[in-house]
Amino acid sequence: MQIAVVSGKGGTGKTTVTSVFATLCGGVIVDCDVDAPNLHILLKPRILKEIPFTGMRKAKIIDEMCERCGLCEDLCRFDAINFDDDRYSVDVVRCEGCGFCYRACPNDAIEMVSEVRGKIFISETEYGPFVYAKLEPGEENSGLLVHEVKRVAEEIADERGFDTILIDGAPGIGCPVIASLSKVDKAVVVAEPTLSGLSDMERILMLIEHFKIEPYVIINKFDVNLDVSREIEDFCKSRNIPIVAKVPFYDDIPTLIANLKIPIKDEIVKAWRELSCMKRLRRG
Ligand code: SF4
Ligand code: SF4
Repeated sequence: MQIAVVSGKGGTGKTTVTSVFATLCGGVIVDCDVDAPNLHILLKPRILKEIPFTGMRKAKIIDEMCERCGLCEDLCRFDAINFDDDRYSVDVVRCEGCGFCYRACPNDAIEMVSEVRGKIFISETEYGPFVYAKLEPGEENSGLLVHEVKRVAEEIADERGFDTILIDGAPGIGCPVIASLSKVDKAVVVAEPTLSGLSDMERILMLIEHFKIEPYVIINKFDVNLDVSREIEDFCKSRNIPIVAKVPFYDDIPTLIANLKIPIKDEIVKAWRELSCMKRLRRG
């Protein structure tokens, strides 16, 4: 059983909810926000292993073999090859790894190389195994890294006999969140009662429904705007999507998080019990 906590954008309280779920789930915990991971700050993991992530191969010019013909610079449609100080070089941020220059160079002066672009961490917390990753600043391929992080978590679950994987999904609706949702059974959307929060929720729910994942919603800080909260409830009711928690605004949550304490709140605990109960019902 894979359960993902997602939101249409960052800053809705997704990681707060996941941290509370993590204390209750008794399974493998995964942070799929590889661009800006922060669940580890609250879970305080003990790192057991680091796995380098190499991502896609990029072009590299071997200067001694280059005859400065300029063909690669002309061919690269991503403007990733520069001529400076009488030598050609590749801008790795711009290079998309297409390999065109590598195949075209008349002197075999270009190689495609993998370099470490991030790290996956396998760790242990007081709540169970925890897998997370960090991508180097400016690097792309976060979707690929999310895929790897999830693969490692599934291996741990198989080896150690855990039947639940809890996922803190990547924010947004792009490639990393799609990778976060792969093989997921239930997705819990954390939404805030603002007009943009409503629109973000609708978009991520479309994605969840597209992948035929069971959708659930938590309204965070529901009492800061009761009108929009009602709109969220009406929307969910019209689509038959269960709202598993309406969490009020708690002014102590920022202080608890600043002090690295997980903000255990009754509404979130009950939401997890409801999700687990539905799991048992489904299996029974
Ligand atoms: S195509 Fe090859 S030889 Fe020509 S400039 Fe590029 S690297 Fe150098
Ligand atoms: S691999 Fe493709 S994107 Fe990268 S430098 Fe070569 S032609 Fe440009």
